[in-house]
This record gives sequence, structure tokens and C-alpha cells, in this order.
Amino acid sequence: MEIVKGARAFLVRAAIATGGCTYSYGDLLGGSQRLARVIAEAAESGGSGSPRVAIMAAPGRQYVEGTWGTWLAKGTAVPLCMSHPAGDIQYVLEDAKASVVLTTPDLADRMKPLTTATGAHLHVIGPESDDSLPQGLEESTADWSNKDDALIVYTSGTTGRPKGALHTHGNLSAQISALVTSWEWGENDRILHTLPLHHVHGIINALHCAHAAGAAVEFLPKFSPGEVWETLMREEDPITVFMGVPTMYSYLLTHYASMAPHQQAAARKAAARLRLTVSGSAACPLPVMHRWHELSGQWLLERYGMTETNMMLSNPYRGERRPGSVGLPLPGVEVRAVSEDTEQPTESGMAVPSECPNAVEGPGELRARGHNIFKEYINKPEATAEAFDEDGWFRTGDTAVLEGTPPYWRILGRTSVDIIKSGGYKISALAVENALLTHERIRECAVLGLPDNSLGEAIAAVVACQDRPVTLEELQEWLSDRLPPYQIPRELKVVDSIPRNAMGKINKKELRRTLF
Ligand code: ATP
Ligand code: MG
Repeated sequence: MEIVKGARAFLVRAAIATGGCTYSYGDLLGGSQRLARVIAEAAESGGSGSPRVAIMAAPGRQYVEGTWGTWLAKGTAVPLCMSHPAGDIQYVLEDAKASVVLTTPDLADRMKPLTTATGAHLHVIGPESDDSLPQGLEESTADWSNKDDALIVYTSGTTGRPKGALHTHGNLSAQISALVTSWEWGENDRILHTLPLHHVHGIINALHCAHAAGAAVEFLPKFSPGEVWETLMREEDPITVFMGVPTMYSYLLTHYASMAPHQQAAARKAAARLRLTVSGSAACPLPVMHRWHELSGQWLLERYGMTETNMMLSNPYRGERRPGSVGLPLPGVEVRAVSEDTEQPTESGMAVPSECPNAVEGPGELRARGHNIFKEYINKPEATAEAFDEDGWFRTGDTAVLEGTPPYWRILGRTSVDIIKSGGYKISALAVENALLTHERIRECAVLGLPDNSLGEAIAAVVACQDRPVTLEELQEWLSDRLPPYQIPRELKVVDSIPRNAMGKINKKELRRTLF
């Protein structure tokens, strides 16, 4: 991977700051070369060719050295999720056929029974010792071919059991160079990184892009709105980049509202001076977009991607950022909308539903191609074959429309759960959710379809409220000025909070099963 080779250009620069310690690019290279030896030896004794190396470590030095070390040993990195229960971790270790597991002393007791069960070699990464570059491995920092396997990342499991998406070095390079160029990453950047490191958002967009550019990564391993604000407000070593899932921005806004006026002024200044503030992994609700803009004077840069494809669409770094839209294809990515009914690309001038009066293309299933797109789902040749259409375009499973002037893509939601077919209309759950969230007492919401004999599907809303709960009649009355009648929910469930996974995503199938 080019990041490891490129690190030589930044040897004395800070690569990681975490828990009060700073590690340079040289430190990381030293540590990863030592680990590469360990991995190579373990793989040799285990008889496997190109080792798959699972990494279980908190965001920090050992995680990065584990990844770089794996690549130096010509292996494939498999990041594990810190918060998953043992059964889920064992599933990943078995599914990915990890022959080596790297972990840290604090997690070793958790990992031992799992590696005993799967037969993987467990290596506990100790405290840093000799930071000089070991001799001898220099030559082997060698060349990866674009075709070589690099990384297995599991999908979020929003629509089923997580699938392992295998990315080659070529996939990662294409993605990283597109993002570094488009978002203008540079060596003077310093990112406050508070995302989990088992999803492409935290791994690629935030961590690897920073390191490809020679920037510093400051880890805050557990997201806490108070600590994020404190760090953003700090004057020395100022943070320039922040990336989050929409719920993180929501928590930051709630925390801001509880601050004293002088703190609010400092928070506004801190948010305004960020060079780049990105939202993604799920649609950013419009009220969150607007409130962040009021606070900081900046529009969040919303982008769209998937585990399988990395980032595909992005609002521009310079130029108009349109709330509710995800912008245009990143360099090297092609997208198109394909009609669900005819399997044909939707074209300008086709009949479009009234929800998208300014459509230039779509709505239809978004399909994509480019070097950013993964190689395969591991152990799932059928799922891999189904994921691509006859012309080789990847089926995202999301419905999108290209609209407005200039035309930007808008994601209407997952075709399977967010596009509700009710009374002959195709309704985007995201549009209804955005309307609900403008109600002052609705804190969170999820909109979904329920089977209905006369309508096909009926719209149902699940809401979490502040103060007193809303009633269905009250909500219907209030929405009648804001949405056409066929988009107004017919059923309502009020809950204390809506369950979300580590990436802030809601599993609507599960919600439907448990609540209705
Ligand atoms: P699984 O594939 O296991 O069901 P998942 O699809 O949630 O889980 P990810 O790859 O993490 O796993 O998420 C990709 C999905 O997240 C996209 O297909 C899309 O539905 C959604 N998504 C990501 N960014 C955005 C965005 N900016 N706007 C709307 N949706 C988004
Ligand atoms: Mg998915």
C-alpha cells in the first residue's frame, strides 16, 4: 500500500496523537516492520501463503502498526469491532479464515479463547521498544500489485448478517487518491478521529487518507460530545478535519445547546475554523444540516458510500454543498440510475414521480463502476455474482435521483426498506423523516412501510420525543401543511430511543419486527 511507502517522506512528522503520546511516521514504520516479521514467521509455521491478519486493538499506534505490518508481510488486514460480543468476533475470525490475530495486552484475555477455538496464532503487541528502523526488511517494503488483497471490511449488517467485503491494494489506492485530491488533504492537517476502526468511514476516509497525506491523526477512541468540543476548542495544535456519522453531529448540537453563552461562542469559533467537516454512513437529517450551518457558518460536506464501494458521491469541497444531496461522482467513479422495472438506465425526460419534479436522471437503483469497487464478498460467490449487473455495474441497493441545477445526486434510501410503495406512490422514508424531525418535540425518528391490504404498504413512524410524547392525530394534523396526504404516516409508535448500531444506523427490518 502506498501509505507505507509514502511514510518515508514524513519520517519525523507526527502521525498519531493519542492519550497524550505522539508517534511519528518513523515510529510507526519501525513498529510495523517488527510486526511484519512476527506475521511472516507465524504464517510460515502455519503453512498459509498470504496471511489474513485480524486486528483487535483500540484506535491508536498498535492498530496502525498492525495494518501496515500486515501489508509489509504481504497479508490481508481484517479489522475487528471492539464492541462486538465474542460470538460475532468468532464469526469474523472463522469467515475470514484469519491465521494470525494481533491484539494488545488489555484485550488478550478476551481474544485467547477465540484464537484457541479457531486455531489462529495470537500475537500480543507489547509496548513500543526500539523505535529505530530494523535493518533487513527495507527491501521487502516492496511492491504490492494492484490485484493483491489488502483489506477485508464487514458491512454494517443493517439488512442481514454482515458480509466480508474484500478490497485489493488497487481498490484502496484508487479510493484514497480520489478522496485526498477532492477533499484537499495535506500534511498540515490534523484530524480528530472518533469513529470506529472496523468500517470504511473510520478506516479509509479518516485514517488512511490522513496518513496518505502525511497528516496527524488524533484519536478519541470513544465518542463523547463534551470531549470533542473541548478538543475542537483547543488553541494549540488545532484540529483541521472532523468526520462523523449524523448522530454524532446531533449529539454535538445537543451538547452545544446546554453550554454557557461564553462556551457557545468558543464552540462556534472552533466549528467555524475547521477546514473540512464531513458527514456520512447514513443520510444526514436536514434539520441537523441547518443547525450545524447556523452554528458554524459551514455546510457539512455530505458524501455517500458503502463498504463494498468506498465513497462514490460527494458534495464538492469547493463550490455549492447542497443540503439533502450527496453531490457528484468522485474522480474515477461512474454512476447511473437504473429502473427497477425495466432494468434500463433511466433517462432524462422519463416520467418521474411528483416527489422528484426536477429529476434529470432517475429515480432508480444507483449502480456504480470504478477501481474503487471491491473484489468480492468472501466465501459468498453467489452474493458477489448477484451484486453486479450484466454490464458489470455494482448494484448499490439504494434508490437515487439526479436533480436540480446543477444536477446533484440525492439518495432516496435503501430500495428494500426506505422506498415505501403505498397507494401507487413510491415514497422515500427519508423525506418523511426529514419532515418529522422539524417538529420541535421529535428527537429521533424512523419511517417504514407495513403490509397493508388496500395500500400495498402503509407508512408507519417510530419517534422518540423530548418533553411530552406526540400523538398520531397531532402529528397528522401538523404534517398536513408539510407533506402531500399520501406521505403522511398512518401508524405511530413512540419509544424512548431508537436502537442504532456502532455506525449510528437503524435496522428498520428489526424495528418493524419488534414494534409492529
Ligand atoms: P449491510 O450491507 O450489511 O446491510 P449497510 O448497508 O448499512 O449494511 P454499509 O456498507 O456500512 O453497510 O452502509 C452503506 C449504506 O449506508 C448505503 O448503501 C446507504 O444505504 C447508506 N448511506 C451511506 N452514506 C449515506 C448518505 N450520505 N446518505 C444516505 N445513505 C447513506
Ligand atoms: Mg449494504
